[in-house]
Amino acid sequence: MMLLKAWREELWVIGGLLVVLWLVGLLTGLARWLVPAGVVGYLVWHLYHLRLLIRWLDRSSRQLPFSTPGIWGYVYHRLEVRRRKVKSGKKQIGRLLKEFKSSTRALPDATIVLNSDFNIQWINKAATTLLGVRKSDAGQPVTNLIRHPDLEYYLDAGEFERPLQMAPQPGVDTRLAITVVPYGQQQYLLLARDVTEQHRIEVMRRDFIANASHELRTPLSVLQGSIEQLEAGMGSHPDLGKPLARMKRQSQRMMSILQDLLTLARLESRQETGPLQAVPLSSVIEEVVEEAQAASAQHGGHNILVEVAEDVRVRGQQEDLYAVVSNLVMNAVRYTPADGTIRVTLTPVANGVRFEVTDTGVGILPQHLARLTERFYRVDVGRSREAGGTGLGLSIVKHVLERYESFLEISSRPGAGSTFAFTLPGKYLEESRSGLGDDSRKVS
Ligand code: ADP
Repeated sequence: MMLLKAWREELWVIGGLLVVLWLVGLLTGLARWLVPAGVVGYLVWHLYHLRLLIRWLDRSSRQLPFSTPGIWGYVYHRLEVRRRKVKSGKKQIGRLLKEFKSSTRALPDATIVLNSDFNIQWINKAATTLLGVRKSDAGQPVTNLIRHPDLEYYLDAGEFERPLQMAPQPGVDTRLAITVVPYGQQQYLLLARDVTEQHRIEVMRRDFIANASHELRTPLSVLQGSIEQLEAGMGSHPDLGKPLARMKRQSQRMMSILQDLLTLARLESRQETGPLQAVPLSSVIEEVVEEAQAASAQHGGHNILVEVAEDVRVRGQQEDLYAVVSNLVMNAVRYTPADGTIRVTLTPVANGVRFEVTDTGVGILPQHLARLTERFYRVDVGRSREAGGTGLGLSIVKHVLERYESFLEISSRPGAGSTFAFTLPGKYLEESRSGLGDDSRKVS
């Protein structure tokens, strides 16, 4: 509406000017000169306002004549509205930035803003206390100031989904967890948190479980020995047969739980069982399958199919790989009704070697899948116990696979069966002539 009014005013000015000049021209007989002079004057007026506008844009003039009638008045008014908007926007951004800086300054976590080359742009107070980085270090690569090979590797890899736990360097007590959050146009927010205390508690928990399991193992072995002695001398007390068998079963179950807890504690503390070996994975699988066949016979028998690439050797720990294969294959036997089919395969793939166990067992409802690798998580506690499970098997599998930069893939359809699989990356494989083809073997 304003624009329409401005145009109307403008037309009135031109029209009025021309009419007045024409009338004056008629009276004075100078119409021939006055009308063109009016047009020239109008043009000069526009040029004058253009000059004003350019000076204002160049910031050599501060004020614009807002009361100008016609279209220039409208242009000046619009420019002023826009200027005020930008000014208030700037103020708001400034206020927000101030708030962001003061809140980040108060954060207990060290916060560093990095550019695309990981050079420091801004730091908060905690960055100085925790990492020793100062404001004057702005512009320097962060790796020059936080000198740690893990951090360099982490930033180079550019995979920031998981935080980096930096092991303390000699002479330093603080353990840091680093999180990098990419934002904006190739900028990064680096957050460092002191997790020394958290780590200490975690180690204490782990040590407690390991020590308790270790301490319980000796008395339990004594009990097991005594039960066996009693069984041997049971002839005169046949009524003791059942309770003794029950005691034996339960003590075996306790021993399995203790052993699994000790294995988990060892895996979590990243202790090795010995030097790395070239573990013959193909033979390990075959050995486990033989044991599974024996166990299966006690559960009514299964159709176990094996297709294993021969001579696959993995650089690692035999004990750990055995635990993985054994837990997955034994679970398939446990959770598949008699006469079901279990298929065990080891196949070379482009990026390594893939192990799969597929069964036609009870299957698992989707809501349980994500939690199966948690300690003592069982879909059906009664069934697991009855089948001799400890509830720790898949947790062990998960921890071992993490060591090989691998993870457990589970797919399942309730009532139809499940597949548990993982791929070991090629870098953990020893050079061998592995391949399926003629080397594959079928056992049923
Ligand atoms: P458990 O000793 O109880 O078998 P695991 O950690 O090995 O403990 O497995 C956790 C749970 O996952 C099991 O209790 C069972 O409910 C489920 N599970 C594991 N393997 C299978 C499978 N092949 N088919 C169906 N359920 C399975």
